[in-house]
Amino acid sequence: MTDVLPSEDACWAAFEARDRAQDGRFLVAVITTRIYCKPSCPARRPRRAHVRFYADGAAAAAAGFRPCLRCRPDEVARDAAAVARAAALIAAAEEPIGLEALAAAVGYAPHHFNRLFKRATGVTPAAYARGLRARRMAAALEEEASVTQAIYAAGYGAPSRFYEQADARLGMTPSAWRAGGAGVTIGWTIAATSLGPLLIAATEKGLCRVAFDEDEAALARRFPAAEVVPGGDPLATLAGQVVDAVERPGRHANLPLDVQGTAFQEAVWQALRAIPPGETRSYAQLAAMAGAPAAVRAAGTACGANPVAILVPCHRAQRGDGSMGGYAYGLDRKRVLRAREGVRERK
Ligand SMILES: [Zn+2]
Repeated sequence: MTDVLPSEDACWAAFEARDRAQDGRFLVAVITTRIYCKPSCPARRPRRAHVRFYADGAAAAAAGFRPCLRCRPDEVARDAAAVARAAALIAAAEEPIGLEALAAAVGYAPHHFNRLFKRATGVTPAAYARGLRARRMAAALEEEASVTQAIYAAGYGAPSRFYEQADARLGMTPSAWRAGGAGVTIGWTIAATSLGPLLIAATEKGLCRVAFDEDEAALARRFPAAEVVPGGDPLATLAGQVVDAVERPGRHANLPLDVQGTAFQEAVWQALRAIPPGETRSYAQLAAMAGAPAAVRAAGTACGANPVAILVPCHRAQRGDGSMGGYAYGLDRKRVLRAREGVRERK
């Protein structure tokens, strides 16, 4: 994996903790034994003064180290290549590929490969394929002349098949998306929460903006074509649930959303919603889950562009070294939200 090497302190901390999540990010070479290991190697830890960190096996081998026979560090690279190859096969396939066929194509046993793929990307190959298809739908909508054509172009057998699955997608219905949100009425309120005043806004289809420290003027600037009004029916039930989700994050994970972003942003937001409460994912993992493993920085930007705080849980995103990264509403709030979900922060 082509990420930059984490800091030496982060590498050492991950090596000491035998952090499997860091396997593939870097290698640890021990100068006394001339052997290199992956971070999770079960072997006894040498003294810190005796280790060097390398980005990959080629770099470690060039420096005169041999792969450890116990943790087989070069298999990590093979696994990563297999996951990337499988992702490419899924993307190129006209018809959904079954797990057995996919695993066989990259030379692994099905169950083992399912776990491997999930560990690398956060989702199973089947969920990855579904997400990819939903994103193609979103991209096609921007290009195709008619909604129906877009549905066929994305590989759905008939429009009804798409609408059956559309509930699982984020976003406006196709027609509202195409009109740029014009003709939509947005009701808003500002609720008091333990983390400060929270703007909550919704269309009749779902929540379109949830943000700390925002007011009506900011909302109107964000939706210039919509009619923005205080209160409104959809909010009566939703606002209380949103506040509850702030106080006990992880609850109300399936509140209806009505948001729009680029195809990649939506893919990252969906990936965030797939993270169980109490767990975290790195920006690199989110990029991979969104189908663009190299777009690590763009994944971070997509988290920052999240239109509905808490409900798209961008507070579960973090840097590759386990540090929290940024948060649009301040790190203190991110820290509290994560603590409420039971995330144990790395020091
Ligand atoms: Zn080892």
